[in-house]
Amino acid sequence: AVERALMRIVIVGHVDHGKSTLVGRLLNDSGSLPEGRVESIRAMSERRGMPFEWSFVMDALKAERDQGITIDSAQIWFKSARRDYVIIDAPGHKEFLKNMITGAAAAEAAVLVIDAAEGVREQSRRHGYLLHLLGLRQIAVVVNKMDLVGFDQARYDAVVAEYSAYLSGIGVTATHFVPVAAREGGNIVDRATDTMPWYDGPTVIGALDGFTPAPVLDDRALRLPVQDVYKFDERRIIAGRIESGRLAVGDTVMVSPSNKTVRVRSIEHWGRGTQPVVAGTGRSVGITFDDQIFIERGDVISHVDQPPVLTDVFRARLFWLGRTPLAVGSSYVMKLATRQVRVTVDRIEKVIDAGSLSGADDGTVPVQVERNAVAEVVLRSRGLLALDAFNQLPNTGRFVLIEDYDTVGGGIISMDGYPDQRDA
Ligand code: GDP
Repeated sequence: AVERALMRIVIVGHVDHGKSTLVGRLLNDSGSLPEGRVESIRAMSERRGMPFEWSFVMDALKAERDQGITIDSAQIWFKSARRDYVIIDAPGHKEFLKNMITGAAAAEAAVLVIDAAEGVREQSRRHGYLLHLLGLRQIAVVVNKMDLVGFDQARYDAVVAEYSAYLSGIGVTATHFVPVAAREGGNIVDRATDTMPWYDGPTVIGALDGFTPAPVLDDRALRLPVQDVYKFDERRIIAGRIESGRLAVGDTVMVSPSNKTVRVRSIEHWGRGTQPVVAGTGRSVGITFDDQIFIERGDVISHVDQPPVLTDVFRARLFWLGRTPLAVGSSYVMKLATRQVRVTVDRIEKVIDAGSLSGADDGTVPVQVERNAVAEVVLRSRGLLALDAFNQLPNTGRFVLIEDYDTVGGGIISMDGYPDQRDA
């Protein structure tokens, strides 16, 4: 059988604007739920004396997953005629940011939900900004709860106009808007020709089907951040996930930041099958080398001719979530791929309020970054770091900042103005 294509999506928007309701509807209306599932959830809410909500579907799937009842519900997914979709769970703002940045779960497309009656809120704008910052260019904007505004086209047009103006202000142009009634069901999978005959664009699932999958990074430079080093007898197995490129047995690779080179002896296989001789992007691998070299978690394996940038100072654009403002001289733990390292804020160059877009270019020199603002900063680490510019290699070009075990920010690296120090 041909394997169906899979696309990872994230659903964001202001609280109560209808994200969970939309998810319940997407699962149901696309026929992705097992027979009788919704009926049993309905019956259970009746027994508990609660009016049924479509959001209960997601709650039920999540509860099952947390108890580990079925493997199938480990992820929340639905299908269209075109492909399967996995919804990346992002219960809160921080989890969302963390999920988006910690690579493995990075979304390829987003659905951003706006309540037609309440209209565009701060959080709607911030989420849009964050999606853009993290490189997500495929966004379907759902204008939900159209029933609350009498399915009025003028109201829909006003929300579309306001939010498109915001998006174009941050450089997002290609976006779909869809008027939706998630609770009663309309324009999600099935067209709402009775209530919104004036709309002739795609449904939510149609808009998603129109998106293109993230480019496969197999042909890009190899980046294998080291996750663990295991000792077996006298052998050592280096484990990690290939974030870009392709690795083959016999390749001579370079380890950064130590600059050592070594030949790959084997790619171990986890599970069944024969030992692979080549492994591509997305694969978790264990490899052995011809020689014993010192290598540790956080190091980055590349090919010799296309190594990562090596530097202890770099420019970044970050989204700040900390309760206390980010200030020049403050230091945080930075997580970049598998590396954890302390960095200090060297300079704040620009601060932008992601909600209002104020401060974009007013010429003043900011001294600190308030919660929920975006800033361009220069960060410095004590030792040399192996990294990439986000626009070159996204998976090794984004990071989160941690303070007291708490995620306080996340961002992307731009090397502008800071040279590679590898050969310095
Ligand atoms: P979330 O916080 O964004 O996940 O929002 P929920 O999906 O939990 O929805 C919040 C509330 O809005 C719930 O009471 C839903 O029943 C209600 N709601 C969601 N979609 C619609 C809709 O299309 N029309 C109306 N009238 N209410 C809706």
